[in-house]
Amino acid sequence: MLQLKNKKILVLAPHTDDGELGCGATISRALSEGSEVYYVAFSTAEDSLPPEFPRDQLVKEVKEATSRLGIDREHLIIYNYEVRKLNYHRQQILEDLVQLNAKISPDIVFMPSTQDIHQDHITISQEATRAFKYCTLLGYELPWNNLSLNTDCFISVTEEDVRRKIFALEAYITQRNRKYMGKGFLRSLAVVRGVQSDGEYAEAFEVIRVLL
Ligand SMILES: [Zn+2]
Repeated sequence: MLQLKNKKILVLAPHTDDGELGCGATISRALSEGSEVYYVAFSTAEDSLPPEFPRDQLVKEVKEATSRLGIDREHLIIYNYEVRKLNYHRQQILEDLVQLNAKISPDIVFMPSTQDIHQDHITISQEATRAFKYCTLLGYELPWNNLSLNTDCFISVTEEDVRRKIFALEAYITQRNRKYMGKGFLRSLAVVRGVQSDGEYAEAFEVIRVLL
């Protein structure tokens, strides 16, 4: 059985916030079960920020959000690729991922689904599948970017994990008006996935690859 206990887990976020949105409650559960969690963001989306905010605002926000989830500051890695242009730097990103694999050697990698239509998300999903082909790979859901999703895997989480995910996402002050940041949406999705897997709350994932 796939376990979250005492694993090395790598979360790949094309943009700051994608990792918390896709698997924030799972991160909370994994940390409570003794796993080490690394979080890598590829773009801090400086060019998408409203002008009243400093350019490094999303760096501050991702530091706060990941620390609210309980991720060690040293396990947060931030690259500075331009938003919506990750595909212009595909080879460099692949090399970054290969280096991360050599450094961290994760058991499980959480990444955008192969069915994600955002150009940056799909770039990370594809290059990560190359770099981490000998790891268990789970694609997280971001329903506003998934025209469809194979919900192959459900990870059950607690009320506290869901609460912590919402608390972490509240650190993204610049993103607070987005519909998918609403508490109601985040909690409802966890309830839907919980019902589908005969539990109270869950997060759903596409199984890209499983090594047992
Ligand atoms: Zn994103």
